Amino acid sequence: MYHPVINLASAKSAWRGLGIYRAGKVLTCEKAEGNWFEGTVQGSAEQPYHVRLSLDHPRSSTCDCPHAKNRAVICKHKVALFFKAVPNAERDFLREVELEELLYNAALKREAEERHREIVSYVSKLTKAQLQQELINALEELDSRDQYSRW
Ligand SMILES: [Zn+2]
Repeated sequence: MYHPVINLASAKSAWRGLGIYRAGKVLTCEKAEGNWFEGTVQGSAEQPYHVRLSLDHPRSSTCDCPHAKNRAVICKHKVALFFKAVPNAERDFLREVELEELLYNAALKREAEERHREIVSYVSKLTKAQLQQELINALEELDSRDQYSRW
């Protein structure tokens, strides 16, 4: 399971936030009361952005960048501060990404196997004339795809 901060961020903000953290652009990070962290993150503007991050209620977090100002979005600066604030957050995030990929690939493989069984079952019931017609259809279909791909 991803941490709520990552869950609420878009995939783009999550990866960009990790990049900002890795680039050493989280300039300061201090623990505040409760599960709050305060810090400064160097963005594209000259002045670093000021970020307040709540680990318990990420939507209450604030950042004064143009994207997140006065909005509840989890911007890349909040994510960057999160990676700095939480020990092993990067490792846990990457593990979760890997796990999701494994699950996704396993699901794709199961679908492909299922589709293969359906095709084998269908083809094994066809007569020779039907097989010939299906083959003609398939070759013509491939041919037309090939023509479209040239445009
Ligand atoms: Zn921001």
